[in-house]
Amino acid sequence: MMQDKRVLILGGGGFIGHHLSKSLAQQNYFVHAVDLVKPQFTDTAAHQFTIGDLRNPVLLDELATEHYDRVYQLAADMGGAGFILSGENDADIMHNSAMINLNVLNAFKNSTGTRIFFSSSACVYPTHNQENANSPNCRESMVYPANPDSDYGWEKLFSERVYQAFARNYNMDIRIARFHNIFGPENVFDGGREKAPAAICRKVALARSGDQIEIWGDGLQTRSFLYIDECLDGVERLMTSSSIKPINIGSDQMITINDLARKIIDISGKDLKIKNIPGPEGVRGRNSDNRLILEELNWKPVNNLDYGLQILYHWIAEQLDTSASDFLNDLSDSMRSSGE
Ligand code: NAD
Repeated sequence: MMQDKRVLILGGGGFIGHHLSKSLAQQNYFVHAVDLVKPQFTDTAAHQFTIGDLRNPVLLDELATEHYDRVYQLAADMGGAGFILSGENDADIMHNSAMINLNVLNAFKNSTGTRIFFSSSACVYPTHNQENANSPNCRESMVYPANPDSDYGWEKLFSERVYQAFARNYNMDIRIARFHNIFGPENVFDGGREKAPAAICRKVALARSGDQIEIWGDGLQTRSFLYIDECLDGVERLMTSSSIKPINIGSDQMITINDLARKIIDISGKDLKIKNIPGPEGVRGRNSDNRLILEELNWKPVNNLDYGLQILYHWIAEQLDTSASDFLNDLSDSMRSSGE
């Protein structure tokens, strides 16, 4: 079958970009992905994959000579709390990600008929609205006066503004999502850039009954976690809407990090204790405020945290060579028989 719509996925070798490539290829888009690296765990579904450095403006100018109906800008120098909150990577994070975003906008500023998606982050929200674990305020309009807790968040906020400025001055067609902790299989789970769900799954999968697993901070800090399939659903809704305001795409099922760990321990069936140790924690509380997305797109995620954690835990356990493949087979059998 002919692919009549063309999409470009920048950062297509990364976690979200790889899943997005799969999803859009299945929907019969022609997918061209660009990244420094190919996806780590399974082959790309993109029809064309370019290995390249998006900090290089020449590469972007070349890419913009072709027509794309949609450009998804997911490339960023990023990682979990251990990477973005240590302070050691701030210069690279700001420099590399800002350069990519500036190059994308400059290259595509005269492309007509191209809708551009920018992946911003919940890290843009001010620290002073996230000091209470039980009542963080991450409503989109509360982003100013700006006070993000990391330079990663400052870069995202700066880039949001650059996208909006290009939309105003060059009539560009822009959509901006603020992702809140997206998780799922094929997410990096070791090496220092992993995020809480994958890191905890790894620790639990490697532990033996009776062991303790270490959790950073007192574990009472709160977050919410959105499963990758729901994230892609939200992105598609946004891309097919006329909504041009930055909008949260995240779960509003807030949970403490210790409770997240308890859920993962339960899934493993092991008898493990939690040991809270000093470590980078970030803000005290964070949760997606989904009022705007419901109002603008008539959509919000169903918050399937338990389902997503089961998939993630067993996928990581399998990667670590423990005996989880049976679970995955059973799960796909039961999904097949229930027609999902
Ligand atoms: P990821 O790290 O898995 O993917 C980012 C990709 O960008 C990587 O494959 C990386 O190689 C690529 N990249 C970095 N620098 C590059 C360069 N100079 N040239 C070419 N490619 C380069 O991250 P992800 O989880 O897939 O996140 C995608 C986007 O969503 C990022 O912009 C991230 O900041 C944003 N985001 C993600 C989350 C989340 O929970 N995953 C939350 C908020 C925001």
